[in-house]
Amino acid sequence: FTVMDEPPEPDGGTIDIGRARGHLRYESVSFAYPEAPRAALDNVSLDIPAGQTVALVGPSGAGKTTFVNLLPRFYGATQGRILLDGQDINELTLASLRANVALVSQDVVLFNDTVAANIAYGAMTAASREDVERAAKMAHALDFIREMPQGFETLIGENGVRLSGGQRQRLAIARAFLKDAPVLILDEATSALDSESERHIQAALAQLIQGRTTLVIAHRLSTVERADRIVALSRGRIVESGTHAELMAHDGLYARLYRIQFEESAEPAAVRA
Ligand code: ATP
Repeated sequence: FTVMDEPPEPDGGTIDIGRARGHLRYESVSFAYPEAPRAALDNVSLDIPAGQTVALVGPSGAGKTTFVNLLPRFYGATQGRILLDGQDINELTLASLRANVALVSQDVVLFNDTVAANIAYGAMTAASREDVERAAKMAHALDFIREMPQGFETLIGENGVRLSGGQRQRLAIARAFLKDAPVLILDEATSALDSESERHIQAALAQLIQGRTTLVIAHRLSTVERADRIVALSRGRIVESGTHAELMAHDGLYARLYRIQFEESAEPAAVRA
């Protein structure tokens, strides 16, 4: 009821862009939350060619979540603009914009319905069983789904209480495979999963980002090392941008974060001097 009582989102755009290629461009984007003392994003510009993966890193409160949330227009930029394939996202209908963006976040909202209906929800309800099963397979979810009492027809409890954290994440990944959008927003889980789950999720994500433009809020060493570019945010600004090697050589914020956040998770052989 809380959701239903929400006012409809403003949708002033009129253009249907169809399937975008996925070129993203942030032009001098600023954003301040209402009544916040300072801007959460301050004059941020970034150009991301279609198909590239950008890993966002930075201390808590740096603006990573705000940066990605502006793209599906969960909020509107206070200043500047964001372009998808050269088109201002504010000129697109919300439906057209969001059809092009898939979101895999840490908080996976599940419905009190079957596994199949939870994968093919919203605009994807018309998907064939074959496509749903293929998406589940790509998400490394097929094995655990088949072990459930009624497989894809198994009802999962309200908010998926009968699923583990790793299983919920694999359902979220299956949704993204099914949606097959050219742009992907990935908010990596901060919480540790058991190593078996982790291995499956990493393998599925590595496959999912292929051929898509991906913005990832990165908490995993393997993710930042695989990214085409790492962007370090601090207090709403981009302070560094480059590859892992470039930023390590620069020895600034990223190198510091890397040592605090990632080094302990590195394989012994990969630990840098
Ligand atoms: P974390 O790594 O902790 O998730 P983050 O880098 O994603 O942090 P944001 O969540 O984008 O950071 O927050 C950026 C700034 O905006 C912070 O100063 C935060 O306190 C503020 N902020 C975030 N959400 C809101 C909100 N709904 N209302 C007011 N201020 C907010």
